[in-house]
Amino acid sequence: MRILVVEDEKRLASYLAKGLRENGYAVDVAHDGEEGARLARSGIYDAIVLDILLPKQSGFEVIRAVRREGVSTPILCLTARGEPNDRITGLDLGADDYLPKPFNFAEVLARLRALLRRSPRMAPTVLQCADLALDPATRRVTRAGKEIDLTPREYALLEFLLRRAGTVVTRSALIEGIWDINFDSLTNVLDVLVNRLRTKVDVPFPQKLIHTVRSVGYVLSEEPS
Ligand code: CA
Repeated sequence: MRILVVEDEKRLASYLAKGLRENGYAVDVAHDGEEGARLARSGIYDAIVLDILLPKQSGFEVIRAVRREGVSTPILCLTARGEPNDRITGLDLGADDYLPKPFNFAEVLARLRALLRRSPRMAPTVLQCADLALDPATRRVTRAGKEIDLTPREYALLEFLLRRAGTVVTRSALIEGIWDINFDSLTNVLDVLVNRLRTKVDVPFPQKLIHTVRSVGYVLSEEPS
């Protein structure tokens, strides 16, 4: 899943980005409202973390602009402490939730998970293929009832494939969904990650679910491709 962080305080922005990446999200960062609105309009994000006090365009203006253009990505606003009017304005304009500063990172994660669960693109159901199951609410993965321990990146890859089970996912779509804009797609790190995931999810079991589609990408499916 891909998150856009719009925050002009550079240290806070990189703290948020680092924490989110450690939890398996792909993250892009914008340092002003104008750039934030431009990236948000692309519609490629699953959620946006948006500061209100920003140079060039305020967070309010960003919300207004993207909602007017029909972008329905869930937005979590970061508001200054003790500014109840900011919260009301933000929610009225179309933000989905807010978090007063200073916040604790665990709460950012919890609120994002809640927003992603409510989002129509992210149905709150357990994702399944054959005897492999992934619960986005608890991030628990099992195969044949046995719990499988995945790193955040492996989890992100599996969730991405499971949400598109039965359809071929191209290498570039996978790279875009799991890593950041600046990721160098010429490296073989995708293949390395897929192999690590296979070792945990497929190798110990007779039925293989992750299939390579030569020179295109991968498909997760019960049927061999
Ligand atoms: Ca700010």
